[in-house]
Amino acid sequence: MSDNRLRRIVIVGGGTAGWMAATVIAKSLTPGYCEIDLVESPEIGTVGVGEATIPPLLALNRQLGIDEDEFIRRTQATFKLGIQFRNWGRLGHEYVHPFGIYGADLEGVDFHHHWLRLRDARGGHGLEDYSLTTAAMKAGKFIRPATDPRNVLSRMAYAFHFDASLYGGFLREIAMARGVRRHERKIVDVELNSETGFVEALKLDDGSRMEGDLFIDCSGFRGLLIEQALKTGYEDWSEWLPMDRAFAVPCEAVGAPTLYTRSTAHEAGWQWRIQLQHRTGNGHVFCSSFTNEDTARERLLQNLDGKALAEPRMLRFVTGRRKKAWNKNVICLGLASGFIEPLESTSIHLVQTGVTTLMSFFPDRNFDQADIDRYNQIIQEEYEHARDFVILHYHATQRDDSAFWRHVAAMDIPDSLKARVELFRSRARISGKQEDLFAFTSWVAVMMGQGITPTGHDPMADQMPLDELEMKLGRMREVIGNAVQAMPTHQQFIDRFCKAPNLP
Ligand code: FAD
Repeated sequence: MSDNRLRRIVIVGGGTAGWMAATVIAKSLTPGYCEIDLVESPEIGTVGVGEATIPPLLALNRQLGIDEDEFIRRTQATFKLGIQFRNWGRLGHEYVHPFGIYGADLEGVDFHHHWLRLRDARGGHGLEDYSLTTAAMKAGKFIRPATDPRNVLSRMAYAFHFDASLYGGFLREIAMARGVRRHERKIVDVELNSETGFVEALKLDDGSRMEGDLFIDCSGFRGLLIEQALKTGYEDWSEWLPMDRAFAVPCEAVGAPTLYTRSTAHEAGWQWRIQLQHRTGNGHVFCSSFTNEDTARERLLQNLDGKALAEPRMLRFVTGRRKKAWNKNVICLGLASGFIEPLESTSIHLVQTGVTTLMSFFPDRNFDQADIDRYNQIIQEEYEHARDFVILHYHATQRDDSAFWRHVAAMDIPDSLKARVELFRSRARISGKQEDLFAFTSWVAVMMGQGITPTGHDPMADQMPLDELEMKLGRMREVIGNAVQAMPTHQQFIDRFCKAPNLP
């Protein structure tokens, strides 16, 4: 072992980001490799929202050796198959962004090209009718996907809705069992080395000092180390993502939980509804330049399924990202590293990417600049990819019924997104890399769902006789219908495998 290895890692913050970081690091290092300390302040608290996730979380659970049913029981979780968007493309319109895959590729050509060809030639079924996930979601049915690619159930993917504070507590147990030490203290000052500018120690409210080699800043929007101490800088994205406030409120659960996050667009923002086993999470994300706080709060309360269980809590934010996710000996994760707004549930995932990428570029006390630069590049690309995907939802609206929607429909968009939209408009092609966070299905779902209609399709799809294509697509719908019919309902599945114990 090198003499230069890290002796102590200090994690600042005990929100979702802090405990995810602590768990991944503690599980990845052999016990005793170095000390891991986490400091959190109950006086400051956590944001306490962040309850919808995306499928890559399953890989993290596996990596951490988490038993999924146990995790669901402990966090009052439900399954999520995608997002239902209401009133986004236009008022009264609804579409789904499903996880999983549309249809099946035929002769090496992506499915939606065949579907476009058939639709243009003969009309027929919507693209959603070829998504097993969407069909299951609409029927309220669930089963875990199959691993055998020949089985239609392999076309499904899922994630979770969970209670954010229970998730934090669940991870905390795992991390502490692996030796992470927790300190309930407020950090009152940060000491920098006068020569290198590296963070040397934290001063705590009991007068003590906590030294460290590597600091993980999970202190939330304030960015205690990365910004307040190191002045790293923030790239403001509000010209493209103008949301800056949210009211969040839980309400009583009504009926069986749905398999999707519902996102309903309002006059100057949108509202989420996330159904858990024990309650429903709700929030109204809005742009304060186009509506006032009282109106937003009222709108949220008027659109709840059940009785509110608390007073709505307001959160303020500026969309964007920290200019460097890793600066000197500080890595920021979670809200300290940026926020794209919660529309596509990307934040918890970006924590996952941040900490797993850190393990691939794990430093010693030399802190090699080449590693740091590459890490920052990877995180920047991931943020920008997610940013473009979220902007698409606002940009591609046909709504003109309020000043807000007219503003976002007309706003300029990043060149990277412009290029994607143009490519799709011409021949329905999606540019992307295998490892992209939002893959093919996601872009197609939102482009088509928001009304971007391609003028053509891939000519390679023209090789199959139309009658044969029509027959194959008919067969796919039949297979999907049969598969959904045989699945248990979401509630039956939960009751059987992962019902939280304190429910009647
Ligand atoms: P926080 O929860 O703010 O935690 C900060 C921690 O730092 C706390 O423990 C605090 O005590 C500690 N701290 C701060 N200062 C000090 C100090 N001086 N001394 C000691 N400790 C200190 N993400 C999703 O993936 N899906 C969603 O559906 C989703 N919805 C969201 C909706 C809204 C409105 C918002 C604002 C965010 C949403 N997110 C969502 C993001 C998600 O909530 C966060 O990514 C996640 O909770 C991580 O937060 P955090 O741990 O970075 O920060």
